[in-house]
Amino acid sequence: MSSPSPSSAPVAGGAAAPCTSRVSVAEAVREAVAQGLVGAGEPAAGFVDVQGVRDTVDDLHRAFAHVPRVLHTFAAKACSLVPVLRLLAETGMGCEVASPGELRVALDAGFPCDRIVLDSPAKTRQEIAEALALGVSLNADNLDELRRVDALRPPHSTSVLGLRVNPQVGGGAIGAMSTATAGSKFGVALRDPGARRQVVEAFAARPWLTRLHAHVGSQGCPLELIAAGLAAAHHLAEEINARVGRRQVTSLDLGGGLPVNFADDTVSPTYPEYVAALEAAEPALLDGRYAVVTEFGRSLLAKNGFIAARVEYVKEAGGRRIALTHAGAHLATRTVFMPESWPLRVSAFAPDGRPKQAPPVRQDVAGPCCFAGDVVAHDRELPELSEDDVVVLHDTGAYYFSTPWSYNSFPRPAVYGYAAHRDGVGFAVVRSAQSVQEISRESGLDQADALLATGTAPSPT
Ligand SMILES: *Cc1c(COP(=O)(O)O)cnc(C)c1O
Repeated sequence: MSSPSPSSAPVAGGAAAPCTSRVSVAEAVREAVAQGLVGAGEPAAGFVDVQGVRDTVDDLHRAFAHVPRVLHTFAAKACSLVPVLRLLAETGMGCEVASPGELRVALDAGFPCDRIVLDSPAKTRQEIAEALALGVSLNADNLDELRRVDALRPPHSTSVLGLRVNPQVGGGAIGAMSTATAGSKFGVALRDPGARRQVVEAFAARPWLTRLHAHVGSQGCPLELIAAGLAAAHHLAEEINARVGRRQVTSLDLGGGLPVNFADDTVSPTYPEYVAALEAAEPALLDGRYAVVTEFGRSLLAKNGFIAARVEYVKEAGGRRIALTHAGAHLATRTVFMPESWPLRVSAFAPDGRPKQAPPVRQDVAGPCCFAGDVVAHDRELPELSEDDVVVLHDTGAYYFSTPWSYNSFPRPAVYGYAAHRDGVGFAVVRSAQSVQEISRESGLDQADALLATGTAPSPT
């Protein structure tokens, strides 16, 4: 299979002055289809709006412009693709990582160690030692992890060290995204009997422990809830500093979690609304006495990316009209398994990449995976889809094509960045599509005979 070659690479930087005008999704789809990035040979691909990412980072910086010391990190899990991370590193952002793999891609993307924050909830001794040797900041999830840090901390470590607390302010609309419920697995549960005193004493015993971390929740959590949790973290920092008699806690890591509006193109809530909610809950929170770290993921990337996938067949079954497309659970896992919590907007395009002009009908948009529930949109009114059309899943720049699921051995799709380019749209390969040879290699090809030679192999008769 020959892969299409995008018309230009890279889309940003280079000698020419970067073009700052935005490309609409419709323009990007038309050009992507014209250039063969989605089509017969390429059933699905992910797309990142490069100027959109830059603009959103600018929005974030502007909203915090009055806060004296702030480090904005990007939560790598939201889009863990090296070129995307490098673009963000170029804007001056840091990176929040939560696994050895995310730390590796953050380093490869070029984030300096003092702008990387390691937050994984189950760090091994090896991960802790590596982070401390590199000078990466680290937030311990619990007091046992803090005791491991005691044992592993090199004498002159430059890592900023913190402790994650769970203010237990409650959950939002999506249980799986609510990190500050009473029984959440994250952080030290602050309202449990004796916990607050233990946290204060843990800081008193460790003069090098200088940061409090709270990530209150993600999609589905109201701003007021997030703000209440962060105000509680601020109060705790004040209490610790009063107990030790000096300003030992010098920074607050506020986590991320700004929800995204998946219903239309409006950005809501906005970063200024987030800042206003925090300042309403605790006027001193952003007054500069504490340095501040943020860890936004979804709100930076979701609306700056989409999935385009071909319609392979259209059928009727039991009075139901179904488009069988190449956008399924492997690319939109959350939406397929939790359709009520993660609805996505879908648009229809004709085989030439122009918006589909056909009467609207109610139809299901199904994926290619071999299970009945593989449907990304149920009973949705859309222009009547037909073979070779293209469907677009909007707002999928975070947590969708960047983290595909390898069910049915479907390949990871290609991902392209796009931006305005002379008088058209330029594309750059962010990640090439996985080949079937790569899938086989990842599936143990090099050990193909491994089970034949073992004592447990059934003997051929
Ligand atoms: C996932 C996560 C984030 C990012 O959350 P978003 O909802 O994508 O902004 C930030 N911090 C921590 C600790 C996380 O686990």
